[in-house]
Amino acid sequence: MKAIRFHAHGGPEVLRCEEVPEPVVPAGGALVRVRACALNHLDIWERRGLPRVRIPLPHIPGSDVAGEVVSSADASVPAGLRVMLQPGVSCGRCAACVSGRDHECPCYEVLGYVNHPGGYAELIAVPAQNLVPIPDHVDFVRAAAFPLTFLTAWHMLMTRANLQRGEDVLVLAAGSGVGQAAIQIAVLHGARVFATAGSDAKLERARALGAAEVINHHAQDVADEIKRLTNRRGVDVVIEHVGEATWPKSVRSLARSGRLVTCGATTGGRGALDLNALFAKRLSILGSYMGTKGELLRAACFFFTGELSPVIDRTYPLAEAAEAQRRLEASGQFGKIVLEVP
Ligand SMILES: [Zn+2]
Repeated sequence: MKAIRFHAHGGPEVLRCEEVPEPVVPAGGALVRVRACALNHLDIWERRGLPRVRIPLPHIPGSDVAGEVVSSADASVPAGLRVMLQPGVSCGRCAACVSGRDHECPCYEVLGYVNHPGGYAELIAVPAQNLVPIPDHVDFVRAAAFPLTFLTAWHMLMTRANLQRGEDVLVLAAGSGVGQAAIQIAVLHGARVFATAGSDAKLERARALGAAEVINHHAQDVADEIKRLTNRRGVDVVIEHVGEATWPKSVRSLARSGRLVTCGATTGGRGALDLNALFAKRLSILGSYMGTKGELLRAACFFFTGELSPVIDRTYPLAEAAEAQRRLEASGQFGKIVLEVP
């Protein structure tokens, strides 16, 4: 089959389109013909190389996949079934898994990361339990764009922040995968959303997704704007994934008893915290990574009815994966960048 692999860490130029052996399907597994694979920042991190993560090389990236079942160990799954893939892989047997917290499984891994060859390929092998059937009206590109970012944003807002109707939410980087998902999920649950982005065109699109107020983070001070727009109160929840560059202003934007949830640190991992503000304002700082399969299926109900809809920035053919990653690295996108596999 054709696949995109890297044999060494580096820039986008290390991605090679080549002929590789078809994946070996493990016991209890399924083989899926990939029709679309969405990009995530994880694809960039693992390509560049991470200090404490050893990825067996050569490696096929890609965590967000939609396609058609070729074969499955689960006899109830017919060949040709249209599916998207739950991106988290877990053992299914440990206490965390059987308690419905599969993302806390000691064996938890993400498709396309470390030991799991990903979806930048014509075929992918996965545990049969990772198959999520999609209805006919949902196309493969949108299905591939849904799982990882909507699961991440759902877990951040609904589980970690315990979002309540009528609360105020600040979403950073509206054009990012997590940003566009978080705006939609927060609005769906009756929150008032404030969104930031770096251009007026992106801010207009954030408004179209339901953001009540938008802030240009290049032209305006985000914390000052939040204080002005909320009559000095601040917001109940901040959705963070930018890191060092935005951290102090994100903390300063919180109201009393506010919750800051972070799922990433794209600009660096060091964030200062005024401990006086932490206790006096009763703030909560919450980390978040992926989410449970139950949460994905819950969010998917709203996807299939059209109440949540991943925004597609643009698509590329599989062979142009390097170009697609360059676009993601340049932060010019609004929404998801997706590879299409013919
Ligand atoms: Zn487990």
